[in-house]
Amino acid sequence: MSLTARELLHKVADDAGLTYQTVARRINRMMRKGSGLIESVQKIAVEQNLKPDRYRIDPVKIVSETEKILREDYTQTLMISAVLGQMVEARGKERFPSPAFFAFTEILSRITDARRDTKSETSIEIEDSTTRIIELMTTLVSVLCEWSEQGVVGISHDCPDSLRDIARAIFRKTKLLQGGLWTCISCGNIVDAKETRALMCHECDTQLSGSRSIEDRFESLGGRVRKGYGRSSEE
Ligand SMILES: [Zn+2]
Repeated sequence: MSLTARELLHKVADDAGLTYQTVARRINRMMRKGSGLIESVQKIAVEQNLKPDRYRIDPVKIVSETEKILREDYTQTLMISAVLGQMVEARGKERFPSPAFFAFTEILSRITDARRDTKSETSIEIEDSTTRIIELMTTLVSVLCEWSEQGVVGISHDCPDSLRDIARAIFRKTKLLQGGLWTCISCGNIVDAKETRALMCHECDTQLSGSRSIEDRFESLGGRVRKGYGRSSEE
């Protein structure tokens, strides 16, 4: 079974003898009209006389793999979070979609046992893990949420019960953002999206600005319930 949208599209393209680009363009169009990712891929499979059941994505496995990567090493997780935080604020092609970022922070807030620097990843390894997380998160939101031209419009009926909480949080935060409101990644308060700094509300940003390090930023990701990420066994 495929784990990311890219893998799934490659599989159906290969099996149907179509190019990846042709399939990708069609899927994009279908999804803008409100068809789900899996649904769209399966429609193409049927058209091409392929068995639709062979084209699935298991969101539970996506979450497990993401958790596994984020537990590997604290420094690596820090770097990934920092990169995604910058990308969600970026403009244009580099931009990481906010629903995918919300999915990331939800999963991150469930992780409590990352090891502290047991090995040092090379920058290439960290970059590979970041790319993998980006693909996993964009795929996850396309499976868990219902989409239309306006973006996320609800929770997908394919969403398994165990992931409904995540889907609901993504939907709620995305809705707020569409209305011009941002959920501070540090305290969880809802603030005007125009007034945020580094994904935080003004107060949290001011508090941290004296000691703005990548760790401070990272410690704030994942919401107010979590304190001392990854340190539970050491302190
Ligand atoms: Zn705040």
